[in-house]
Amino acid sequence: MNYCDLAPSYIRAIAPYQPGKPISELERELGITGIIKLASNENPLGASAAAVAAMQEAIKNIALYPDGNGFELKDALVKRYSVTHANITLGNGSNDLLELAARAFLTPGDKVVYSAHAFAVYALATQAVGATGISVPATEGYGHDLPAMLDAAKTNKAKIVFIANPNNPTGTFLEAEALLAFMRGLPQDILVVLDEAYNEYLPEEKRYDSVSWLKEFPNLIISRTFSKAYGLAGLRVGYAMSHEQVTDMMNRVRQPFNVNSVAQAAAVAALRDVSFVKRTFELNQRGMAQITEGLGKLELNYIPSCGNFVAFHIGNASATYRRLLELGVIVRPIENYDMPGWLRVSIGLESENAKFLGALEKCINEQVNGEAK
Ligand SMILES: *Cc1c(COP(=O)(O)O)cnc(C)c1O
Repeated sequence: MNYCDLAPSYIRAIAPYQPGKPISELERELGITGIIKLASNENPLGASAAAVAAMQEAIKNIALYPDGNGFELKDALVKRYSVTHANITLGNGSNDLLELAARAFLTPGDKVVYSAHAFAVYALATQAVGATGISVPATEGYGHDLPAMLDAAKTNKAKIVFIANPNNPTGTFLEAEALLAFMRGLPQDILVVLDEAYNEYLPEEKRYDSVSWLKEFPNLIISRTFSKAYGLAGLRVGYAMSHEQVTDMMNRVRQPFNVNSVAQAAAVAALRDVSFVKRTFELNQRGMAQITEGLGKLELNYIPSCGNFVAFHIGNASATYRRLLELGVIVRPIENYDMPGWLRVSIGLESENAKFLGALEKCINEQVNGEAK
């Protein structure tokens, strides 16, 4: 028998998430070293030293189960934002929170709205519970078309709308005013998951206080992560803030110990280390300027980005991706985001950005000279 047939058709139809290629895998394949990975929007500075020290301390008690309620981490979040413990859900990465929202509220047949070219996990989380995803065409600039999404949510009586701000892989940003207009136009029995995984990277003039919106919108779920600016992607920890009834439902479907003790300790320390996040932000600002300037010099189109990555257009995307691998640079193809001809590069250290731009220039010259393999 075919055991796949034991799974529901909506599970069989899932196209697996395609992660960035790990450095160790490319090392094995090509037998080369000195590889740089600019493929998963990780923090090139690593993690805060304070977070690393907190992890080492926490390991001493690794035989014990974690605090299933995550008291200290929630407390640190409560002090940072004006919310209560009852408004916070902790997750094994913010990916977990996206799935908890789907699992808590969706049944097979429910409708979910998200944008074309939006983060792939929205469609995966939707499909895993047998709900139906509605992908709304993006604006000309690859951004979320909020008026069209509002329309789609109302017409289809959607249960959840996923919004990424900024979005990955496009880096596109929605102004606070546009988001507020969307929220005000939406019936309050439709939940909105506002995914702010790159919130800490927003340029100062673009920052907005979405947490204060929770008072006006009980249907709003804000999700954030320690994976990106906090440099803790390997640890898996994120948090959501929402109305206490919404939070209650999300917490009922999570695993009792979904965030491990080392991650909880590290996250508390990372939240306190404000200067690390500031240095990360500043490095990213400089690196973004370096990379976009370099792409401009190579006469490549790119989508202006508010994250720690940028998507750029290059005719021969798959060949370029493979050639860059040979040159020891891992970037991310985004064909699976319905963006054939585009690659996404994460902002690295100055030297990594320079190596990427040098390798890219070499690829282009080879292609022009007909040496492309
Ligand atoms: C990286 C990312 C996440 C999730 O990352 P976690 O490591 O699971 O916290 C969520 N949303 C977007 C848009 C992302 O790019």
